[in-house]
Amino acid sequence: MTLAPLPLSTKVTVLRGLGPARAAALQEAGLETLRDLLWSLPYRYVDRGSLRPLGSLDLRGFEAAEGGVVTVLGTIRDLRQSTTRVQRMALTEVLLEDGTGTLRLVWFNQPYLGRALKVGDRLLAFGPLVVGRHGVEMRAPQFELMGRSEETPWVRRLLPLYRKLGPLTGRVRQRLVAEALGRVHPPEEWLPLELSKDLPDTLAALRLLHEPPDDSDARALEAGTTPAHQRLAAEELFAFALGVALRRAGRLRRKGLVVPTSADLRERLKAYLPFPLTGAQRRTFKEVVDDLTSGRVMNRLLQGDVGSGKTLVAFLSLAMVAETGGQGALLVPTEVLARQHAATFQRLLGPEAGALQLLLGGMKAAEKRAALARIASGEARYVVGTHALFQEAVAFHKLQLVVVDEQHRFGVKQREALKEKGGDPHWLVMSATPIPRSLALAVFGDLDQSLLDELPPGRQPIDTKLLHPAQAEAAWGLVGRELVAGRQAFVVSPAIDPSDESKVQLRDIQAMEKLLRARFPDTELAVVHGRLKADELAARMGRFVHGDAGILLATTVVEVGVDVPNATVMVVDHAERFGLSQLHQLRGRVGRGQHRSHFVMLSASEAERLTVLVETRDGFRIAQKDLDLRGPGEFFGVRQAGLPQFQVADLARDRTLLLRCREAADRTLHVGLSDRQMDWLRREQARLRLADVS
Ligand code: ADP
Ligand code: MG
Repeated sequence: MTLAPLPLSTKVTVLRGLGPARAAALQEAGLETLRDLLWSLPYRYVDRGSLRPLGSLDLRGFEAAEGGVVTVLGTIRDLRQSTTRVQRMALTEVLLEDGTGTLRLVWFNQPYLGRALKVGDRLLAFGPLVVGRHGVEMRAPQFELMGRSEETPWVRRLLPLYRKLGPLTGRVRQRLVAEALGRVHPPEEWLPLELSKDLPDTLAALRLLHEPPDDSDARALEAGTTPAHQRLAAEELFAFALGVALRRAGRLRRKGLVVPTSADLRERLKAYLPFPLTGAQRRTFKEVVDDLTSGRVMNRLLQGDVGSGKTLVAFLSLAMVAETGGQGALLVPTEVLARQHAATFQRLLGPEAGALQLLLGGMKAAEKRAALARIASGEARYVVGTHALFQEAVAFHKLQLVVVDEQHRFGVKQREALKEKGGDPHWLVMSATPIPRSLALAVFGDLDQSLLDELPPGRQPIDTKLLHPAQAEAAWGLVGRELVAGRQAFVVSPAIDPSDESKVQLRDIQAMEKLLRARFPDTELAVVHGRLKADELAARMGRFVHGDAGILLATTVVEVGVDVPNATVMVVDHAERFGLSQLHQLRGRVGRGQHRSHFVMLSASEAERLTVLVETRDGFRIAQKDLDLRGPGEFFGVRQAGLPQFQVADLARDRTLLLRCREAADRTLHVGLSDRQMDWLRREQARLRLADVS
């Protein structure tokens, strides 16, 4: 009797051999349907050819396979548990035999292994070989139980391994997956031909990944770069891209407020400018003007390298609405930066400076009340603030434009909250450092992009050095010379979490403060870190910004986001603790005046990675390198809430595919989506929880 094929949405409980305990384990892991089960891919593939006969592992057995890890398969002949004499650790020892010889496997402090393993079990183990008291042994290997009998599920060259879920071993999962693959109905094709044409269909892809044929490329399987992976990744990325394209299309249909322009307005804006715009500033501002006058809602990402002059573009955009009867708000991540931007704007505004209102969480009650009243009445045409702008008490008179500095610190929800406050204001989002194209697409895919790809004239190159801590004297000598010449210096220490295991080897900010005070006794030092109260922080920053303090020692990278053209040297301690993009952003804090500037990284490790900064000043290249090395989650330096979580796709690995999906999505949308495609899209979005992304 043949059974009718099952749709992917069928509950896993239809599978034979799935008792209540195992079903509960699957449920607990979020695997409820056949689709869930089939889409959770093996975490590793073991190649039978990489198995080492136990008899071959002699004392020279260290030229072990890659990474010093070898894979063995044998039967447990002996199993012992004891306690080590010196450190009182639980010790589990297994003697494995395979017909060619034996090998001792040893685990520490895993007493449950005494129950999990039994004499007679067949065990697949992989771990490093070391020389112990009894000769060569394998320490703390990972393992898979292969069942007692010879009826092994390993019928192919490559054995897929699955994570054990409670009582559900990897072997049982493999059996369930095999059954599911045999019984599911092939899913419908949703990908447009331009994406699917060179890829296996979905079911074939799943088979290739769960039951890899003998001629599969094991490396590509593990790296996730096979056509089968591409198929599953393309489905996710296409769904994502289509969602983004739909949202963008929806926005473009919304009526946006038209900001009136005139020759007179242009003259007034020009009068505010302290220097001629760079070509790139003129071009990007024109893109903003085109949006603001288009009748559609602007949603634009302004990217530019550090120091490219984004602030001036932001100011002009805000001035455009402020000069035509509207209100504009500038949203920044910290109070220090809010104050600095407010001061910069007030300087630019000159006699009009009274039109600007600062709003900070740390304001005194009366001060805040007055600020809120000025914002509500419309008297404040420029509003600069932090997250305080999201509070319910804040009501705007006529909010027409929101500019967000360093966007990735503001989540989607916060953007929405501010949207509620105005009709439907225009948005200009500025990123602090360049974002690689694929990541920009993933996070800001529904935004139009402007690029500031030119630095203002007269910039001095920044002399960048990577020094071993043993050569730190060279760095302090440099700082000393700059101070004597009347310049100022930044010193950056990593913020060290007290639970950090490696903290014994790290110099924290207190130690650095001591060092600097001893080395530069006649120089005023401003020390700032994340635990200071807002007004204390502002006061200390003020000493540095106004030139009273010669050195600013800081942990928080953002506080260093100040504009002090007289600062000509920055020393970053433990540079290995920072991302490349972060370091590049830090470097942008010097070299802002007409004096030659220096950037020194102190580090005892990761020289290869850090050298990228010595070699290039191109923020986009640095960003791409950073993404390649650390992956999208770490790229922003914080866990990025707005980053889509894919099951198979990987934003770094699959970036070309994402770009292709994006183009395909635009074309698909152009033709129009059928109801069935809409259903599929909704399902995929729910599955990947893409709804609250970008
Ligand atoms: P970022 O893009 O990193 O935010 P800023 O907006 O802070 O850069 O600008 C960096 C520096 O360049 C500031 O000191 C600013 O006054 C200066 N600047 C901006 N635009 C110009 C310009 N067109 N000509 C000369 N200097 C400029
Ligand atoms: Mg800036």
